Amino acid sequence: MANEFTRRGVIGLGVAGASVLAGAVPARAAANDGRLGFAVVGLGKLALGQIIPALRTTSGARLAALVSGHPDKAQRVAAENGLPADAIYNYENYDRIAHDPRIDVVYIVLPNSMHPEYTIRAFKAGKHVLCEKPMASTVEDAVAMVQAGKAANRQLMIAYRCLTEPLNVEAMRRVRSGSLGKPRLVITKMVRQSNLNDPSDAWRLDMKMSGGGALADMGIYGISAARYLLNEEPVEVRATSQTDRNDPRFKSVEDLYAWEFRFPSGAISQGSTSFDASDEMAYEVIGERTRLVADPGCFYGGNHLSLVQGGKRTEVPIHEIDHFAREMDWMADVVRGKAPMLAPGEEGVQDMRLIKAIMDSAANGGAPVKTDFGYRRAYDPVAVIPA
Ligand code: NAD
Repeated sequence: MANEFTRRGVIGLGVAGASVLAGAVPARAAANDGRLGFAVVGLGKLALGQIIPALRTTSGARLAALVSGHPDKAQRVAAENGLPADAIYNYENYDRIAHDPRIDVVYIVLPNSMHPEYTIRAFKAGKHVLCEKPMASTVEDAVAMVQAGKAANRQLMIAYRCLTEPLNVEAMRRVRSGSLGKPRLVITKMVRQSNLNDPSDAWRLDMKMSGGGALADMGIYGISAARYLLNEEPVEVRATSQTDRNDPRFKSVEDLYAWEFRFPSGAISQGSTSFDASDEMAYEVIGERTRLVADPGCFYGGNHLSLVQGGKRTEVPIHEIDHFAREMDWMADVVRGKAPMLAPGEEGVQDMRLIKAIMDSAANGGAPVKTDFGYRRAYDPVAVIPA
């Protein structure tokens, strides 16, 4: 899609130089300093460990409000971040954000099954939504979220931080450039250990709340990576799973999944995920001539990208950034019409459908499941993010 974003690259575009994306929704209200106000919903591990700290470094976004069921925690976090008491909401009075002009964007950081309700309530309050991955626990809920955003004429972005992060964008660029030769295989390994005694994992090990254990939590990174690395959508999947039902963690979710996507180009992606394996978030793209390795490729930091040819490995230098700051600044720019939407709700729906297809195939002894759902990415990150 050739437009102002793809012709010039979005980074570095000044407000005056940027044309407003057709259909983009102008921000309701900008903070005094020009940054958009973000309300963070759910003060768990990710919000406290990554998102709120990142909001101290963002240039287009700032923390405007907190939504939490724990008043003591909310008051402490508000005080630490210079927020007034009237910027704290709970799940009951949440809808009152409709009358709070300090809030432009609501960032949903709750357990997966709660994303739809709080997203739809935010749209009803007239706010834009940035929602954590996976966007929901079922395909039906995910579709309803997209419809609600359209009905409210508000932006829905899914928090796929890797889509705007330098290492992953560079990996896409290397694949697109043809320097690897034709990409033949994409291998993704997104695994970690889980702990039933950790409340943050307990809901992930509950099928109703997570929508799929390790597959929904970690495997989604591999599904997404295969799609953005190849810049195409899979047409078929075969999958298998392996779960120890005597392990108390796996009463309602599967543990290990392994799958194989076929892509229209002829490339194949082998993916795997588990909640009972040594931590790893890695992928490789094996081209006709060269192998690209991101190991790790999707942690919050400390990732490495390299190229391997004829047994010789060359490290690709990457400028490390805060993934979450970048993602929230991107969302702010989308709302302002200054940046294209790289991860719309439809992108999240595609992954939800692929998660379901993997589960369906595994439940049917690895039978092939068709996966051409008609989704096509509107913007290739490589086309809009300059090297
Ligand atoms: P968490 O369990 O640590 O935090 C969830 C928060 O929701 C907690 O503050 C909890 O009190 C609150 N909550 C409200 N109602 C609840 C209920 N009924 N049950 C359980 N908790 C409830 O989880 P997290 O690790 O912060 O993950 C939150 C979301 O962020 C998830 O969707 C997850 O997939 C996503 N996530 C994304 C990344 C990323 O890199 N993009 C990383 C981690 C988590």
